[in-house]
Amino acid sequence: MPDFRKDFPILDQQVNGYPLVYFDNAATSQKPKVVIDALNDYYQTINSNIHRGVHHLSQLATARFEEARRAVQQFIHAPHAHEVILTKGTTESINLVASSFCQRFLHAGDEVVVSEMEHHANIVPWQLACERHGATLRVLPFDDRGVLRMEELDSLLNEKTRIVAVNHVSNTLGTINPVAEIIRKAHAKGIPVLVDGAQAAGHLPIDVQALDCDFYCFSGHKMYAPMGVGVLYAKEQWLNEMPPYQGGGEMIKTVTFAHTTYNELPYKFEAGTPSVGDVIGLQTAIEYINSIGLEVIAGREQALLEYATQQLLQIDGLQIVGTAPHKSAIISFNINKLHPFDIGTLIDQMGIAVRTGHHCSMPIMEHFGIPGTLRASFAFYNTEEEIDRLVAAVKKAVMMLS
Ligand code: PLP
Repeated sequence: MPDFRKDFPILDQQVNGYPLVYFDNAATSQKPKVVIDALNDYYQTINSNIHRGVHHLSQLATARFEEARRAVQQFIHAPHAHEVILTKGTTESINLVASSFCQRFLHAGDEVVVSEMEHHANIVPWQLACERHGATLRVLPFDDRGVLRMEELDSLLNEKTRIVAVNHVSNTLGTINPVAEIIRKAHAKGIPVLVDGAQAAGHLPIDVQALDCDFYCFSGHKMYAPMGVGVLYAKEQWLNEMPPYQGGGEMIKTVTFAHTTYNELPYKFEAGTPSVGDVIGLQTAIEYINSIGLEVIAGREQALLEYATQQLLQIDGLQIVGTAPHKSAIISFNINKLHPFDIGTLIDQMGIAVRTGHHCSMPIMEHFGIPGTLRASFAFYNTEEEIDRLVAAVKKAVMMLS
C-alpha cells in the first residue's frame, strides 16, 4: 500500500506537542498537494472571468471550467454535462432544488418526505418550502441501529407526495442507505427523489444513471477538493421545467425591462461569477481519486472502520451510536454520561481532532435522547496507529473526568 499521507502536507504537523491525528473527515477532508498546486497554478497563470471574454486568459479559464464539468459528469456517470450544475456545495444544491422545484411543483396540501437521519441541510430547505407553499413535511423513521424503517416507506408515499429527499450516507450514524430501493419505490408512484450525497462522494462509486435518481448533491470539500464548490446533478427534464434559482449575469439570454429570457442549461442555474479556481481544483481532486481508485479508497476506509469499531468497543462504558450493518467510516460514540465536549477538548490537547456535538442532525440526537456524540470519521490516509492513539487518549480523558 503506497504512503498516501505524503500527498497531504497538512497531516505532517504537531498539534499541542503531538503529531496531528485528523479524524474529522466527515466535516471536511484534507487536500492533497496536487489540489493545492492546481489552485496556485490557476491564480498564477489563467485567472480570469469565464464565458464572457474574447481574450486569451478568459478563453483558457472557460475551457478549463467546462473540462472540469465534464470530469464531474464522468465521475458520477451523468448522461449529459449540462445536467451538472456547479454550486457552492451540498447546501446550495439542495436549496436550489427546494426553491425552484417546489416553486413549480409544490402546492397547498402536498407532502415532502425526508428521513429522520438527515443533515439539517436536507431538512430546513424543505421546511421553508413547505411553509411557503402550504405543504407538509413527512418523516421516514430509523430504528435504534440507525437503519431506515423501509417497511414504512410504502405507506408514507402517496398521491400527495411531490418529492423524497434522503441522504446516501448519514454524516452522524454512518449508515449507507438503500437509496436505489427508495428511488425504485418512489418512481413506482411517479415521485422524484433527491439524494444528498455529501458523505458518499469520494468514498463510494456514484452512478446517477444506475441509481436513476432525479437529483444528486455533493460538496467538493468533503472529497479532497477546495471549499466553495459543489455539484447538483439533475435530470434535464426537471431542469427544463424548473424556474431559475437566482437571477443575475450568465443565467440570461436577453434582458429588457419588460422581459428576460433565460440561458440554456446548465447556465440557467449558474447566476453570477462561479469559483473558477475551486472548480478546477475539484477536477484535480477527481483525477487524484481516480489515480488511486475508489475501490482502494473504500477498501481502506472499511478496514479502518472495522479496526476502530473493535478497538473503541474495548473502552468501558463506550456506546456506538449507529450500528447499521452497512456503514461508511464514521463512528459516533458516547461514554457513560460524560459530555462529548469535555472528552473532545481533552483529546484535542493530545493532538487528536474529532467532532463533538449534534453534527447538524438534531433529530438524531432527539431519537436517542442525547445532547450529542463524539464523532471520529476516517479517510483512506488515516492509519491503525492513529486509531490506537485515539483509543489511548479517550481512555486517559475518561480517567481524568471520572
Ligand atoms: N448533507 C450531509 C449529509 C452532510 O454531511 C453535510 C455536511 O456535513 C451537508 C449536507 C452540508 O454540506 P455543505 O456544508 O458542504 O454544504
